Amino acid sequence: MSDKAFDCMSCGACCFSRNPRYLKLLPWDASRALPPDGLFSENGETYVKFECGHCVHLNLSNCKAACSVYENRPEACRAFRAGSFECVKAIRANGIMGERARAVPEVVA
Ligand code: SF4
Ligand code: SF4
Repeated sequence: MSDKAFDCMSCGACCFSRNPRYLKLLPWDASRALPPDGLFSENGETYVKFECGHCVHLNLSNCKAACSVYENRPEACRAFRAGSFECVKAIRANGIMGERARAVPEVVA
């Protein structure tokens, strides 16, 4: 990606969600080598695990937000285009590296 405003390797906004069923596998994912321990099944559907508010495959280190299974990432992730309406919406909702999604709400004493 050339546009610094949409740098997927330091953003990761679309990889954050508090919904544990945010990322469902689709028929096209059957041949993809996703680690089995990063998946769970429910009611006949298979999902990628989300923990601590983000996908278990999101590597948050060195001020980056990198997908650790990029070559085998699910179809839904491939369809998520940088700079698209959905991308801008995710950045607005979650911020760079999910800063808003991960923010702990202030407790009023
Ligand atoms: S929200 Fe957009 S820029 Fe950020 S990682 Fe996803 S596709 Fe890339
Ligand atoms: S598989 Fe990769 S691109 Fe898809 S949500 Fe997880 S970290 Fe993001």
